[in-house]
Amino acid sequence: MSISKAQKRIINNINETVQVSHWHDWHWQMRNCVRDLNSFENLLGIELTDDQRQKFSHTVAEFPMSITPYYLSLINTDDMENDPIFRQSFPSVQELDMKDCDMEDPLHEDADCPAPCITHRYPDRVLFLVSNTCAMYCRHCTRKRTVGDRDSIPCENDMLAGIEYIRNNKGVRDVLLSGGDPFMLSDEKLDWLLGELRSIEHVEIIRIGTRTPVVLPQRITPALVQMLKKHHPVWINTHFNHPREITTSAKQALARLADVGIPLGNQSVLLSGVNDCPRIMRALVHKLAANRVRPYYLYQCDLSKGLSHFRTPVGKGIEILESLIGHTSGFCVPTYVIDAPGGGGKIPVMPNYLISWSTNKVVLRNYEGVITTYKEPDSYEPTFCDRNCDKCDLQLSLADGDERNSIGIEKLLSNSNDTIALVPRDNERHERRDE
Ligand SMILES: *Cc1c(COP(=O)(O)O)cnc(C)c1O
Repeated sequence: MSISKAQKRIINNINETVQVSHWHDWHWQMRNCVRDLNSFENLLGIELTDDQRQKFSHTVAEFPMSITPYYLSLINTDDMENDPIFRQSFPSVQELDMKDCDMEDPLHEDADCPAPCITHRYPDRVLFLVSNTCAMYCRHCTRKRTVGDRDSIPCENDMLAGIEYIRNNKGVRDVLLSGGDPFMLSDEKLDWLLGELRSIEHVEIIRIGTRTPVVLPQRITPALVQMLKKHHPVWINTHFNHPREITTSAKQALARLADVGIPLGNQSVLLSGVNDCPRIMRALVHKLAANRVRPYYLYQCDLSKGLSHFRTPVGKGIEILESLIGHTSGFCVPTYVIDAPGGGGKIPVMPNYLISWSTNKVVLRNYEGVITTYKEPDSYEPTFCDRNCDKCDLQLSLADGDERNSIGIEKLLSNSNDTIALVPRDNERHERRDE
């Protein structure tokens, strides 16, 4: 693959003797990550003001910088301040602008942590943080608190303990590898890790969350995808936030992954000044779908420290969904979620389509604003369900697991237990009763 003029200039500025082939070598890209201001200026051929330099040094003291030469080459230097690539990769002094609502660990990932590197929040799946490093340090990182923190790099023993936890918890059918970026591990290490997880009978699927197709597409080598293919079913979620990130190199990386049968999803974060625009998001989801990537989640920006300048009102996300649902292919519409502070997990949010209802009719509106009705059946014989599936006429294969125990709202809806309410732990009225 040939390279652009900007990329050639970066190569020459790094070292006159570098060959073009180095550009396509992910180890070379990693070795030459831009971590200081001088390199940033030299490689892009720009000069920042003294004021900008001073603000920069304050910010990186708190939150370090790392940008791959590849991702750097996508920056449009003619309008840098408004450039979505620049905004996602270059430290802003606004990161130091802490708000009262900012939290150290808003998603309580450290609290819901039964083993090193494991967050076990949902009954049937776990998050397994297998690497603490990334090719590029996203300025909007939700785990910013640990970026560059050497203490939290998982060691061999932590990984073994994580695997052991999964092995001992038969309810875990889905393991989500994240980090950091799992693709910062070597092919050999990943091969070993995936093999260990595959050897656990109750692990049905393995998912990998990686931003390398966006910031380091060179990482997706033929050797890597051949290795991944051995461990199917493997699913991958990547993290494109702006259509400009879908370059020729990124497309090739995605094609390699899709060609070995890996289902691809994308998780975007809604970011002020980057993609908080219905037209940008529509262009992004169309480009993703054209490259066999299904838009999976659109995240409301978390309450982690240093992200306040990226946050939008929730209404912006709803406006974006309003402009997608019905207007474009159903599978191009991501689920918009707020990851609940305090560890409540992802909560989907969307526009309202159900306007009203009575005992036999519902009133709905569609994306065009047409108001319509759906007539409900005159009679419906609700079958009493006590989750005694052996006696039920519906054909559920019980080999697929015990369905008797329900939790949460599902429990309130079921006939199989006497729970009539779920009460928050610190409900004051109930606390008065207990006295
Ligand atoms: C997001 C997340 C998952 C996976 O959730 P899905 O909705 O299944 O994609 C699992 N564990 C944790 C802690 C998460 O944050």
